[in-house]
Amino acid sequence: MAKKIIITIDGWSSCGKSTLAKQLAKELGYVYVDSGAMYRAITLYFLRNNVDLAEKKEVKAALKNIALEFVFNPNSNNSEILLNDENVEYLIRDMLVAEKVSDVAAIREVREFAVAQQQKLGLKKGIVMDGRDIGTTVFPKAELKIFMTADNAVRVQRRFKELYEKNPNITIEEVKNNLEMRDYIDSHREVSPLRKAEDAIELDNSNITPKEQLQKVLFWANGKIAGK
Ligand code: C5P
Repeated sequence: MAKKIIITIDGWSSCGKSTLAKQLAKELGYVYVDSGAMYRAITLYFLRNNVDLAEKKEVKAALKNIALEFVFNPNSNNSEILLNDENVEYLIRDMLVAEKVSDVAAIREVREFAVAQQQKLGLKKGIVMDGRDIGTTVFPKAELKIFMTADNAVRVQRRFKELYEKNPNITIEEVKNNLEMRDYIDSHREVSPLRKAEDAIELDNSNITPKEQLQKVLFWANGKIAGK
């Protein structure tokens, strides 16, 4: 049987990390884990329960009441996140969550909570996980690490298109401001800031098609699986 590896995909917001990660997992028969969905689900819980982010005690108590799980939905052909048994995959994409998630994800206790679960999911390898600190903190020994970038304008357009389908009231400005704000907080926080791992391959996908991108990454992955 082929050797199983861990593939990490980190990078700026809306670079298409999850699209690539999902395709890659499908091609390789690996598990796909969207680590951002975990931070988003925690944020949704905090918003619903008015958790004061400045109060460590409140944050810790709230985390004790959160159970996260991924389930495969054959209808959407996607792995979806459950927050305390409720499917919140759709709700966590809301702008209200996007506005708060980077503040929540900067809290040390929140990161420790999420990272411990992410590491457990990778114990058997055969996994593709995307996020911001997967190659640096969650799986520093991963066999294949990719760091994705794309032009700002391309990223804003992509995310706008995605969000506009759900909410036609959304404006380009709102999307742009949110991306810039998240990138800033994510790359400047004290705990596990977004940065390229030294051994990560940088992939700029502003000017390549999703198909070309997948072929490129599959080539790298198969090389690692073959032990090269
Ligand atoms: O990947 P996505 O854009 O859904 O992630 C939402 C937010 O979750 C990011 O902007 C970041 O603040 C946080 N995140 C993180 N570490 C990860 C994944 C996501 O801090 N590994």
